[in-house]
Amino acid sequence: MGIIYKIKCKECQNEWRLFLGYGLKHTSLSDVSTYFSDKDNSEIVSLINENEYKYCNFNYRCGLCRECNEFTSVPVITLVKKVNGSKEYKYIAHNICRNNHKILMSDIIFSDNLSEAFMSFKEISCPQCNQNSFDIVEEGFWD
Ligand SMILES: [Zn+2]
Ligand SMILES: [Zn+2]
Repeated sequence: MGIIYKIKCKECQNEWRLFLGYGLKHTSLSDVSTYFSDKDNSEIVSLINENEYKYCNFNYRCGLCRECNEFTSVPVITLVKKVNGSKEYKYIAHNICRNNHKILMSDIIFSDNLSEAFMSFKEISCPQCNQNSFDIVEEGFWD
């Protein structure tokens, strides 16, 4: 079940509603493969087939499009190595904002808890007014 977040900037009053996490339609790789490039898909499949990458997670994460100056939800696949959990691969969807821009890996919040992430990372600033004071509200669940 995913969470619906509202991000509201206290300075300029702009707000964004993001559906993060994952839903019932995202239970297997084939459900989500269309979000990713052919190159990424073949890398993901071959890493899983090596059997070392047992944990494969799909989530929508909060990202920032620097072309549109908007927060947007970004499909992300994370592969975690079975034996040594420190080795992770992350794949992010290509052309994902509503204007088909690419979101940079460094502009994605990978935390499961958006409220905590916004509180602990002070460098997150509003894409519209550049301040960093937000209200983050969990508005409910989606699936
Ligand atoms: Zn603002
Ligand atoms: Zn964009």
